[in-house]
Amino acid sequence: MFEQYLRIKDDYPDALLLYRMGDFYEMFFDDAETAARELQIALTCRNPNADLRVPMCGVPHHSVEGYITQLLEKGFKVALCDQIEDPREAKGLVKRAVTRVLTPGTVVEDANLDAKGHNYLGALFWDEDKEAGGFAWLDFSTGEWSGLHAKKAADLWQWVRKMQPRELLVTENAQVPSSMSLTSTQVVRVPGRAPFDLKAATERLLHAQGVRDTGALGLEGKDELVRSCGALLAYVVQTQKQDIIHLAPFRPLNLGRHLIVDEVTERNLEIFRRLDGRKGPGTLWHVLDHTQTPMGGRLLEERLRHPWREMGPIEETQAAVSWLFERDDTRRDLRAGLDEVYDLERLTTRIFLNRAAPKDYVALRQSLAALPKVRGVLERPETPHGSYPTDGEARGDGRPPFLRAALKGWDDLSDYFDLLERALVDSPPHLVTEGGLFRPGFHAELDELLDLTEHGENMLQQLLAEEQAASGLPKLKLGFNRVFGYYFELSRTASDAVPEHFVRRQTLANAERFTTPRLKELEEKLVSASDRRKSLEYKLFQKLRETVSEARPRVLFMADLLAGFDYWQSLAETARRWNWTRPVLAQDTDILIREGRHPVVEAMQGSANFIPNDLRMDEARRLLLITGPNMAGKSTVLRQTAIICLLAQMGSFVPAREARLGIADRVFSRVGASDNLAQGQSTFMVEMMETARILRQAGKRSLVILDEIGRGTSTFDGLALAWAVVEELARRAGGTIRTLFATHYHELTALEGRIPGVHNMNIAIREWGGEIVFLRRLVPGPSDRSYGIEVARLAGVPQPVVQRARELLHELEKARDGRGEAPRAARAVLPGLDMPEPKQAAKPRALLAARTEPVAHPLLTTLRDLDTDHLTPMGALQLLNEWKLLW
Ligand code: ADP
Repeated sequence: MFEQYLRIKDDYPDALLLYRMGDFYEMFFDDAETAARELQIALTCRNPNADLRVPMCGVPHHSVEGYITQLLEKGFKVALCDQIEDPREAKGLVKRAVTRVLTPGTVVEDANLDAKGHNYLGALFWDEDKEAGGFAWLDFSTGEWSGLHAKKAADLWQWVRKMQPRELLVTENAQVPSSMSLTSTQVVRVPGRAPFDLKAATERLLHAQGVRDTGALGLEGKDELVRSCGALLAYVVQTQKQDIIHLAPFRPLNLGRHLIVDEVTERNLEIFRRLDGRKGPGTLWHVLDHTQTPMGGRLLEERLRHPWREMGPIEETQAAVSWLFERDDTRRDLRAGLDEVYDLERLTTRIFLNRAAPKDYVALRQSLAALPKVRGVLERPETPHGSYPTDGEARGDGRPPFLRAALKGWDDLSDYFDLLERALVDSPPHLVTEGGLFRPGFHAELDELLDLTEHGENMLQQLLAEEQAASGLPKLKLGFNRVFGYYFELSRTASDAVPEHFVRRQTLANAERFTTPRLKELEEKLVSASDRRKSLEYKLFQKLRETVSEARPRVLFMADLLAGFDYWQSLAETARRWNWTRPVLAQDTDILIREGRHPVVEAMQGSANFIPNDLRMDEARRLLLITGPNMAGKSTVLRQTAIICLLAQMGSFVPAREARLGIADRVFSRVGASDNLAQGQSTFMVEMMETARILRQAGKRSLVILDEIGRGTSTFDGLALAWAVVEELARRAGGTIRTLFATHYHELTALEGRIPGVHNMNIAIREWGGEIVFLRRLVPGPSDRSYGIEVARLAGVPQPVVQRARELLHELEKARDGRGEAPRAARAVLPGLDMPEPKQAAKPRALLAARTEPVAHPLLTTLRDLDTDHLTPMGALQLLNEWKLLW
């Protein structure tokens, strides 16, 4: 047995091998030690008395799934080694083989998956010589896959962080950024060249997709992406031990069609997780998700990750959302109908891969039963009351085009529902080998066997009664023993009168035992009925699986359709609950938001406590410089604007009274000091890296959100950088980039009027009896003071410290007003730069004058001529250092 074990284990050095023995899955040696520790189960010993002990532990086969889940969550791979022949028929050692390998990125069981989230397996290939690479990702549980090709390795890694695959396949010697160790992605270095080999990869891909050339999949000229796809397929075939043909057609992600929200921005806007990494309240997802089905939930996730950039799909979605928004009854009933639909995609995948339990078929049946109900809701005639015409409606049958199209292609799958309904009992057992799965009436032979097993006793009694009557022997008895089986018994005195067909089996002191051909036949039937029933049910179940597998394309079609409705109704539901409006999208780059709100802050503190704000960006207002004290609400305004644009481009309504938005191609954000200290990078370094990326990548239609740039360094470095960044953003791409720039550097407010497009706004504050009151109102013009000390006081900084700070501030202000006392570094770097007195524009102007003076300080000239496009973050830091030394 150990020979067999070790031979098998040899092929799976990186997985925990679960070896089936009787009713247990056992682990041995190192695997046993690991599993015992991770699963908190007892570690025993196979041979306690031998010199060389074999550690061992095991789990019962019927609860193995739960243990596997735990192991996968901890990032282990599990190889399941089963008995592949019937132990009763085995000669010698039962044959065993690994039937599947479970890995975090390829699981299909619900217990291991987030219902409303995708579970990706990724593969990344980077060709150093060609300077090109591809990153592909696959949700094995639904069969959807996609990927992208890029000329920069950094871009690919950014997408890896955004898509967060559970496992990422790379070549043996791939250079993996150290930051990957902080993500939940497990990097798997696949040994050997074969998985990523172009020729082999192409063949695998063509086979899996049933196409002739990779061009059909949109992959021409994208060899690196083909290699990644090939590696995915190789891995999946290797782990699943079967041919993989259930995948949807591969569709490369077309970046040109989407609003790109990079991973940093996604994090800063707290779309899926809060800044502290948690899910749930405090995220946009939490406000937005009212989907009723896992498919709808996953579609919502996908749209949030990749909103659109083109008007067409946005407006189509808006039309559907509006329609459902206006019909509360329809939406309510639709939600109730969808609630009865289970995860059609993952159910059919499991059925297709033969990994489904009987309860999956029941779930499928229940889901199919809901289809006519959902259709009924959507087909309901429009009532003249309470319905408002929306886009394109009022034509044809009064239904909007999206609905007519959906109803036309609708498929109740009633043939499959009927089959499942006739076939399976209400709640079948978990195991498919023990019978009890099928309903009476489904299969004639099975009925007979069922009848036999369930009514065997009755049939025997009936036979007995018949024989008693026919032979006139009322004393005839029926008995059973292990040696002779069933028999008829008569007292010796009566036994002379037995009929012809009675065959004597046994003679006792005062009784005779007989059998008859019918009794024999019945007995054989009874004894084997139970076994035969089990194996017949097993066969029928396999047949049922094959038949239901054939429905996969139809089930997926409906899953898609329902996901769409679920997505629309969820957006409509959110819009209703929070009183959102339908935005108007435009091709220009203006933004007009009236009474905009931050959906998450509003949800956290209640609508009554949230103060809406207007915001306008146009030709004259491309870069809004927003000043105001800490805690005034600057970040909130910034983020809400980005979120409103993002929501609008998903086709959603938005939290505002009115919104008119020019479509954006990318949203960038750099918010606060995101803490990457664990990566060994300083906050400032991270901030500059993110800023550098924005400056390199922002284009014509981008929306840029910058919060407190330069805070992580000394005041003057920070100010100088912030200043340069503002100049650059206002000037770039013909001055069309939309930027919201929150800063506590009041000096920057002097840029209004000097740089076209820069416009000052501030968040109003009122002082009231020595207290400051946050008005949370965004108003034009610069703010007047920073109120930092007041905020410190509000935050509970002890009174003596606050008092001391006030005195110091006073001193500093006096010193500055006395001139000549400002820090030398400041004067040198930016001559004329002093803290401007509130409402006193003279000093900032002096600074600007300095910039235009012919004899500007050499450093200023350097700064102005600096090519920020090609400046690396490290370069920026070095420059700063040099400048500091230079004065
Ligand atoms: P800043 O960026 O100016 O430091 P924030 O945007 O972080 O300030 O806002 C601080 C807090 O003020 C937020 O957490 C929120 O609770 C509250 N707040 C911000 N904007 C509003 C608003 N418009 N209405 C009500 N409360 C707000």
